[in-house]
Amino acid sequence: MPRLTRKLFVDLSIWMAGLGFLTGASFPFFILGLGFEAEQVLNLPFWMATLTAGLLVGILNYVLALRVVRPRLRLLAMHMHVVESTIRNATYSGDWSSCDPEKCRVPVDSDDEIGDSARAFNDLVVALFRAQELEAAIGDISKALSSQLDLDVLAKQALELLLRHTSTPAGVIMIEQSGELQVAAQHGVAQAEQLADSDHVRRAMRIDKTQRVECPEDVKIEAVLTHFRPQEIIVVPVSFKKTPLAVVILAHSQRFSPEILWLLKLFRQGFGLALNNALAHANLQQIAALDALTGMYNRRFGMTRLHEEFNRSQRSQTPLGLIMMDLDYFKSINDNYGHLVGDRVLSQIGQAARQVLREEDLMVRYGGEEFLFILPAASPADAYKIAERIRQSVEKMDIKDGDVCLHLTASFGVSACSDEPIKEAEQLLQHADEALYRAKQQGRNQVASYLE
Ligand code: GH3
Ligand code: MG
Ligand code: MG
Repeated sequence: MPRLTRKLFVDLSIWMAGLGFLTGASFPFFILGLGFEAEQVLNLPFWMATLTAGLLVGILNYVLALRVVRPRLRLLAMHMHVVESTIRNATYSGDWSSCDPEKCRVPVDSDDEIGDSARAFNDLVVALFRAQELEAAIGDISKALSSQLDLDVLAKQALELLLRHTSTPAGVIMIEQSGELQVAAQHGVAQAEQLADSDHVRRAMRIDKTQRVECPEDVKIEAVLTHFRPQEIIVVPVSFKKTPLAVVILAHSQRFSPEILWLLKLFRQGFGLALNNALAHANLQQIAALDALTGMYNRRFGMTRLHEEFNRSQRSQTPLGLIMMDLDYFKSINDNYGHLVGDRVLSQIGQAARQVLREEDLMVRYGGEEFLFILPAASPADAYKIAERIRQSVEKMDIKDGDVCLHLTASFGVSACSDEPIKEAEQLLQHADEALYRAKQQGRNQVASYLE
């Protein structure tokens, strides 16, 4: 039908009234054809009557169309306005909490083009809100990833956000450290460590491509996941410039939606960059904390660690042992064999001491050939025993450097905070120093305890 005006209902009214008029005008000729007498039907009153009747039917049709169609179109327009203003307000305020797609739905009560329009509108609203949710999730995750340099915290935050925004019940983040995948964060997964050996995980890391693993009902899966039976598991490798850094594994009780897959794709890129930054930061910190010759903590960082351990021991009321070691007559090594040999000797003695210490003990290069060993939870007796073991190990060492074989001894001062009321770490340090002085005075190659 050709359009007559810019208003659909005005067009409709013209077409309907015109059709009614034409019907009314042609009606007398129509019934003339049916055999009525010409003088009965071809007169002005009858013609006026049929014309009026035709016009009335036309107007009635228009009113009916108006009543049936217009409210639905109005409803659609009204909801569109509501959605538009809601989205505009939320965009400006940044608060989307009041936006509920259910409130913006229009009823679908006809199986025709109007019903189709309502349905399409509802789909559009859902798509809009989903797009917004996705954008908010990406913003949320990006913010967390870009503001965190601590590896552990980063992994935990990333997993928590990922599970929340994807409504996924279980997941693990494993980070590659020294060539092995270590669990950095997990939720809802039982033996997460075992996942490192999974073929899917290895393959994902090797080819740097996301792996989707469907778990059909009839296939029995190993009891890796606890709380529920997953329908799909996704393995997302995370890399930076083709270097594999980590893997994210998520398990869902239903299949992952296209939105979640899209979110994971973006997460993967952002997380790779954030992980790389955190790893670089950790490396830098370690380099700054370590002494280049011995690989032990340097004095500055060692003092920070001593204060931390001291405070921890005070809080938890557990003892803390301290050993100060100074090599005996070390100057003569330098004088006789040169500084470089002296350096290598220092490095070897550091390695020998490490063998004697426990995993949790800290080694600090306190000065030139002075070392400090911080022993968490060690009583004075424990600290004494450990110092004695180091002393014996140094004494027995055949220190080889080319053709030269050297023998050295060391003196030790031991202090601990358990029996005595020690207020600060410096006091503990001073006690160890005083004990060391005594060990030197009493003839070297021996351990002296402050409490003796
Ligand atoms: P003692 O402790 O038994 O009294 O005698 P000592 O000869 O070891 O005396 P002291 O501890 O005072 O001497 C420290 C010497 O250690 C001085 C210096 O030649 C040497 N030294 C200190 N730092 C280094 C280092 O980094 N490399 C080398 N090769 N030598 C160092
Ligand atoms: Mg010294
Ligand atoms: Mg010395």
